[in-house]
Amino acid sequence: MTVIVPFVSEASQDERQAWCEALPEALSGVATVKPFEDLTDEERKLATVAIVANPDPAKVAALPNLVWVQSLWAGVERLTAELPADGPLIVRLTDPQMAETMSEAVLAWTLYLHRDMPRYRVQQDRKIWQGHELKLPGEQTVGMLGLGKLGAAAALRLKANGFSVLGWSRSAKALTGIACHHGADGLRTVLERSDILVLLMPLTEDTKGLIGQDELSACKEGAALINFARGPILDEPALLAALDNGPLGHAVLDVFDKEPLPASHPFWTHAKVTLLPHISAPTITSTASKIVAANIGGYLAGGTVPPSVDRSRGY
Ligand code: NAP
Repeated sequence: MTVIVPFVSEASQDERQAWCEALPEALSGVATVKPFEDLTDEERKLATVAIVANPDPAKVAALPNLVWVQSLWAGVERLTAELPADGPLIVRLTDPQMAETMSEAVLAWTLYLHRDMPRYRVQQDRKIWQGHELKLPGEQTVGMLGLGKLGAAAALRLKANGFSVLGWSRSAKALTGIACHHGADGLRTVLERSDILVLLMPLTEDTKGLIGQDELSACKEGAALINFARGPILDEPALLAALDNGPLGHAVLDVFDKEPLPASHPFWTHAKVTLLPHISAPTITSTASKIVAANIGGYLAGGTVPPSVDRSRGY
């Protein structure tokens, strides 16, 4: 008898459609994927694993025997906030392709800042023909806040491209060629020494508002910041003040407190902000579906739940 795996999602119609095509194909021979809305009462009762993407928590609760849920996103702050702590285990998406895509984005926007593109864009608008001193990548220090699956890969990619890289994480880490720091003192060191600061940690109780006025004031004069993590990690009013009054020279922002960013938000027109619509590393349905299939296949064959989120840490 084939096992039914519910797919619980309030994602957009287009996203749901893409997943409803990719998941059954990847899981064929492993299990049958069925949208929550199509499940019979019996199928709801039998389900021990579900695939979720922005699920309605009430629908997850309507699957009473769930052992774990497989998220289709890498960031799970919504699930940790909405699902009860004694509810199903939460397995987030960890896809090597996503680490590759994020590393590419970090490198692209670091090069954008390193090669002064915002400044030359302004000069073009004003028809100013003027070159500026070019620093070598090794003369630029990039500070990576978060050294997990994505941050570590991005830090190593920057290092391979000649940048001098500092890293920061919650616990002590060792990465070849990267000066790794941790803890409160470590954060201060990375803030004070970085020319470009990249945020790539999860949104948790501990990281919410972590980068505020004090932290931004500690940055180098003219330093730039890239936020590819989550909006609420960075205090938006403090960021605006640091761009307007110093020390920050530019910010590349992909994530915001409220998404889509409201049309009235000052970031849209700020001369020192480059704004992206949360595109730095989208989940790729083709590779992610295969990872989900391997996780669920392993569980159905041997009962092993993949590594899950530590609810006390929040990631
Ligand atoms: P991960 O593997 O869980 O790594 C998280 C890293 O952050 C770890 O190094 C961890 O330290 C560090 N960290 C967590 N809490 C910390 C704290 N309080 N202080 C200092 N460091 C802390 O996560 P990931 O896969 O790299 O993903 C990171 C985040 O990227 C996701 O949570 C998601 O929000 C975001 N993301 C954004 C996009 C986008 O398109 N913009 C796409 C995908 C993901 P330890 O190493 O000590 O545990």
